[in-house]
Amino acid sequence: MKEIKSDNYSIWIGDQSLSKLELIKYSKIGVLVDENTKEFCLPLLPQLQKNLIIEIKSGEEYKNLDNCNYIWNKLTENCFDRNSVLINLGGGVIADMGGFCASTYKRGIDFIQVPTTLLSMVDASVGGKLGIDIQQLKNQVGLFANPRSVIIYPKFLESLQENQLKSGFAEIVKHALISDKNLWKKIINTSFNDLDWENLIQHSIVIKNNIVLLDPKEKNLRKKLNFGHTFGHAIESYYLKKGSNISHGEAIFMGIILESELSFILDSEKNQIKNYILSNFPLPDFPEKSELLNFMKNDKKNVDGKINFSLLKGIGDCTINNFFSEDEL
Ligand code: NAD
Repeated sequence: MKEIKSDNYSIWIGDQSLSKLELIKYSKIGVLVDENTKEFCLPLLPQLQKNLIIEIKSGEEYKNLDNCNYIWNKLTENCFDRNSVLINLGGGVIADMGGFCASTYKRGIDFIQVPTTLLSMVDASVGGKLGIDIQQLKNQVGLFANPRSVIIYPKFLESLQENQLKSGFAEIVKHALISDKNLWKKIINTSFNDLDWENLIQHSIVIKNNIVLLDPKEKNLRKKLNFGHTFGHAIESYYLKKGSNISHGEAIFMGIILESELSFILDSEKNQIKNYILSNFPLPDFPEKSELLNFMKNDKKNVDGKINFSLLKGIGDCTINNFFSEDEL
């Protein structure tokens, strides 16, 4: 088992990581699940099953205020006090919304992230960003708060559908592109089915954690993690509004392709990134730029109406605060 130390909590990775669920000190324990993590993941944690299980429906469309109300009401009805804990057993939706509900309930109770998708292991459960969507705008309401710990048990990935595995992989690709050229080379030279997940998860978390430790509130360096996400989030919002399904990772892969085009790298590098993604991961249609601009106008990172991008200045190197007006795009 590996331990990665973050700000004031630890991230445990490996087959023994579940033993690090330290619950003895809590007065009440709640476990937030969706129907899939209840079926596939909760049975692997027999010690949790006699606690309050709060089940919500799976899917990004349920990362909303109605479900927050549902969760807060469940905690209230079951007399959860400030010495209680919420365990978020699921993907990024559960991590973001469960963490948000825990850190606002009674002005904040402890929560523990137990990510069950690749995306939540390498990204959503690390770094303290929590929130929900409103009016089809992603993560429009939220806050920064750290969990007590993050428990990464790679065996959860065994029940995950391949498209979900690929979705999480987009963030691993992003981490390599913004800060580790060797990891990028390793990725493009290994077939997807031969990738060593535990090793990649650990490597990827170290990259994210090192950036977050330097800039937890995204004042500067943390913006590097937004590479691929300005277009990516707009694409996600566009499909959310249309009522069509797109995974976070598909949107981020598309965002990585579009933002590589804007980046300060060689054309051969742009082509390498685009070809690698398009030949390994089938993606939906790219929306019209004008449609995406409507969403990007609302991006939290914009300044004076200009859209803010984090772009590559080489493979494995990223530069922040690159502003483009709508006309320039
Ligand atoms: P998700 O939580 O919707 O999970 C995807 C699907 O996989 C769901 O149907 C879920 O029920 C199912 N599932 C989860 N674990 C499973 C398992 N082990 N076996 C079988 N099925 C399983 O989506 P996601 O891709 O994990 O996360 C996306 C969300 O994460 C988005 O809302 C995004 O905004 C957020 N996110 C947050 C951060 C952050 O820093 N806070 C970073 C990246 C993404």
